[in-house]
Amino acid sequence: MNETKTATSALLNVWQKRPLIISGPCSAETEPQVLETAKQLAQTGKVDILRAGIWKPRTKPGMFEGVGAKGLPWLQKAKQETGLPVTVEVGTSKQVEDALTFEVDVLWIGARTTVNPFSVQEVADALRGVDIPVLIKNPINPDLELWAGAVERVARAGIKHIGLIHRGFSAFGVTDYRNAPMWHLAIEMKLRYPELLFINDPSHICGRRDILQETMQKAIDLDYDGLMVESHIDPDNAWSDARQQITPQRFAEILNQLIWRKEDVDSASYHAALEKLRQQINQLDDELITLLGKRMKLAEQIGLYKKEHQITILQTARWNEIMNRALKRGETLGLSKEFITRYFDAVHMESINHQKKVMDG
Ligand code: PEP
Ligand code: MN
Repeated sequence: MNETKTATSALLNVWQKRPLIISGPCSAETEPQVLETAKQLAQTGKVDILRAGIWKPRTKPGMFEGVGAKGLPWLQKAKQETGLPVTVEVGTSKQVEDALTFEVDVLWIGARTTVNPFSVQEVADALRGVDIPVLIKNPINPDLELWAGAVERVARAGIKHIGLIHRGFSAFGVTDYRNAPMWHLAIEMKLRYPELLFINDPSHICGRRDILQETMQKAIDLDYDGLMVESHIDPDNAWSDARQQITPQRFAEILNQLIWRKEDVDSASYHAALEKLRQQINQLDDELITLLGKRMKLAEQIGLYKKEHQITILQTARWNEIMNRALKRGETLGLSKEFITRYFDAVHMESINHQKKVMDG
């Protein structure tokens, strides 16, 4: 196998680093811009991998579509000068081939590619027999199966080091974000693939600078393995995604201000205290489920009476009475109106289903 096509142990060490920080311009624009951005990022001492878009899949034609393969030697030079491994986005087999020729260290599949199984398969086929880490962005639309499908295609091609990049999902209407984070979907994906590297891309989620830091903090609090953040030596004049890019210095400043909470600590007393509380929670949950089971049995008995007397299942006045009692009681215990309403609506639906079963029986 070609030397350039084997992930080196140095790179795999970088891959293991937590938090793993990837940064660089949305697009490689000129050689000096790439080299200067790389130099400034390396000087921060906080960045592990340099990113740059070489081919830019744009929603509409006429926008800047990347400098193309001529930008690859710039990245190669940036790597030589700074020692930072480099990553680019690929969406076709030719792009994979070009990236490998110029010793790109890590590849990523963009959101507009993940949506298309033909393209993902083409990239995966081009990677067969190549040992290179691949990061897979979530598809534009909130569809975990497409994201999972891309992971499986790449894994089946024999790629051993795969990472996920959460860059938010396209949502209709105006929101604070360029791409709605829908954190619960990303978390579900992380739970499905706990062994994969899990990176957050706040730049494409936010689409603007002022909410980047809080979004990064949120990702850290949710235990992401790292961040991919777009940075540029002159963000306002960037050729793509100008509004969301920040200078390397600003990025370093933000990284300094972020609070990295740990998922775990080595303190025995902490673990013992937590364990005790968790046992109590388990016990209460068991009791709650048992009680709910009993409650449904009572509902079934009511169902039998209703059946006998040919009465409707849904009795609005009774339901309002139950809800009002619960809201009042909940309030005294510090339970929100929203929670009580959602909880009792769910209990009510289950109750109706149980009654319906006995009435139809
Ligand atoms: C990018 O990283 O510049 C990019 C095009 O991102 P995405 O695929 O998330 O839109
Ligand atoms: Mn971008």
